[in-house]
Amino acid sequence: MLARTPKAVCLECGLPGTSPAFTAHAGIREHGPAYWSDRGILCSVGCASEHFRKRKADRSYIAIPLDCPVEVEA
Ligand SMILES: [Zn+2]
Repeated sequence: MLARTPKAVCLECGLPGTSPAFTAHAGIREHGPAYWSDRGILCSVGCASEHFRKRKADRSYIAIPLDCPVEVEA
C-alpha cells in the first residue's frame, strides 16, 4: 500500500472516482482519471479549472507535470 495515495474522490465536488460521471483519461476507465493535481484527482474539466484557479489564488499551484497520485487499477 502506498501511504501517499489519497482518497479517490474529486477534490472539488467529492464525486467518487468509481462514478460513471468521472472523466476517464482518453475516455478509457482503466487509464485512470483525466485530471488531477498533487493533492488528488478531479472529475471534469470544470472541477479541474476551479481547482487550479483556487490553487493559483492561494499560491500553492505547481506548474509542473505530475504523476497521477491515485493508483490505476489494471
Ligand atoms: Zn468534481
